[in-house]
Amino acid sequence: REVLVEVKNLKKYFPVKGGILKRTVGNVKAVDDVSFKIYKGETLGIVGESGSGKSTLGRMMMRLIDSTEGSITFKGQEITNVRQGKVRPLRKDMQMIFQDPYASLNPRMSIGEIIEEPMVVQDLHDKEERQRIAGDLLETVGLSREARDKYPHEFSGGQRQRIGIARALSTRPQFIIGDEPVSALDVSIQSQVINLMEDLQDDFDLTYMFIAHDLSVVKHISDRVAVMYLGRLAEIAPIDSLYKEPLHPYTQALISAVPSTDVTKKKERVVLEGDLPSPSNPPSGCPFHTRCPEAHERCRAERPELTDMGNDHYVACHLYTDPETGEVIRD
Ligand code: SF4
Ligand code: MG
Repeated sequence: REVLVEVKNLKKYFPVKGGILKRTVGNVKAVDDVSFKIYKGETLGIVGESGSGKSTLGRMMMRLIDSTEGSITFKGQEITNVRQGKVRPLRKDMQMIFQDPYASLNPRMSIGEIIEEPMVVQDLHDKEERQRIAGDLLETVGLSREARDKYPHEFSGGQRQRIGIARALSTRPQFIIGDEPVSALDVSIQSQVINLMEDLQDDFDLTYMFIAHDLSVVKHISDRVAVMYLGRLAEIAPIDSLYKEPLHPYTQALISAVPSTDVTKKKERVVLEGDLPSPSNPPSGCPFHTRCPEAHERCRAERPELTDMGNDHYVACHLYTDPETGEVIRD
C-alpha cells in the first residue's frame, strides 16, 4: 500500500491565559502526540466527541493552522513547516469540505464564482475553461449547469454541500478532508451526500479523511477508522475489525450506542459515566480513566501508548499489555 499522508507525533497546544495579568497559565492539549498513516485511495474515518481534537487535527493537516510539534508528510514531502504564505501550491492537491455549508459559501458570490475561485487562486486554466469546468462539476455533483448563475441562498443545505464538494474538486485534488461534512444536514440527506462522495472517490481517484462525531456516519464510507479521545488516538483499525472486535473500552461504548439492525445480536449498551473532562486539565495516565468501566490502578498513573495488535489494529489501553514485561497480550 502506498502511503499518501503521514502524521508523526503531531501536537497542537493552545495556551490558556488566566489571572488579571492574562499570563499563560497552562495549555489545552487539543492534539497530543498523534501518529498515523493514510494510504492512497482509502477513506480514513476520524471519530470523536467535540473536544476530542479531530477538527484541530484536520486543520493542521490542511495547514490552515500551524502545529506545535511533530510532522506531517504528504506524498513523501514534509509539509509541517511550509510557511502560511507558501501553502498555496499544496492547496491544489489537498482540499477541505467544511461542516457548515451555510457558513462556508460566500453569500455574495455566484455558485460559478464559488467553484471557480480555487482555480483562480491556483492560476489554473483561462476564464472560459474554468466556467466550463464549473458547469461540468455541478452536473457531476447532481446539480444543473444553470446553478452557476445562482446564489447560495437559493439552495437547500444538501445542495449547498454538493456545491462545497464541487468547489473542493475544482483543482483536481488527490486528498480531501471532510470536516463533519454531513453533520449539519438532515439524516435523510446525509446518506445521499455520503454516497455522492463515495462515487466521486472512484471517479476522481481520491483519498479521504472523513471526520465525524458519530461512528454510524463513517461506517459505510470508511476503510479504516481512528477513534480519538481528548486529543489522543484510542484505537485505529480496519472498519470490520473495529466493529466486530473493538478493543478499547471507549470504542466499545461508542459501538454499543450505534443501533444494531441485527436483532439476533442484541448488544448490551455500555453507558459512559460523566462528561468529557476539560482538555485544559486532562486526567493523568490514561485520559479515559475517569469514565472507563475497566479502569484500574495502572490507568491513573501511566499513559498507554498506541500498541500494534496485528492485522492493522492498534489500541492504546493497558488491558492489552503486560504490566510487568510490557509485552502485548493477544488472546
Ligand atoms: Fe480503561 Fe485503563 Fe484501558 Fe484507559 S488504559 S481505556 S482506563 S482500561
Ligand atoms: Mg471507499
